[in-house]
Amino acid sequence: MLGQAVERGARLAMLREILLTRGERRYGLDHLSQLRHALQAAWLAERAGCDDAMIAAALLHDIGHMVHDLGENPAADGIDDEHEAVGARFLEGWFEEAVAAPVRLHVAAKRYLCGSDPGYFALLSPDSVRSLALQGGPMDEAEQASFRALPFSAEAARLRRFDEAAKDPDLETPDLDHFLPSVERCLR
Ligand code: FE
Repeated sequence: MLGQAVERGARLAMLREILLTRGERRYGLDHLSQLRHALQAAWLAERAGCDDAMIAAALLHDIGHMVHDLGENPAADGIDDEHEAVGARFLEGWFEEAVAAPVRLHVAAKRYLCGSDPGYFALLSPDSVRSLALQGGPMDEAEQASFRALPFSAEAARLRRFDEAAKDPDLETPDLDHFLPSVERCLR
């Protein structure tokens, strides 16, 4: 039991360190750091009354951008960094699927929402439009049905809406330590 508690503490400390150091990277073409984008996503989830798993997923959804080494904005160079897969692989040994799965699916969820909700595409930032093409474009109806059948697809779509809204240069949030208890409660 004690060993497990130490391990969880070490994992939480490592996540905190990654967000505070690698999170200084710019968030795509938007005038935000990765950390501010992550904090805004988590804050939007918390204010919407979401549970710990969704708050943790929102905070950590772009961790794949922080643990890869393709530079700050690979999409501008025409590279899909597959950050959702990188991030989910990083998280899945440490967290329940309620955290890892929405992270894994949040790019698919963007393609799903663009295909299924006519108003959604209009909400995308220029950066998000550019990466959409690299990610495969909007889903057609058959792809949408397959997506809806996946576990945690609804959570992934919810996460993706927080993600898109979390690019507000003026939105102030609590700091990282405010959200870490939610993350800690989701660690295995
Ligand atoms: Fe994001």
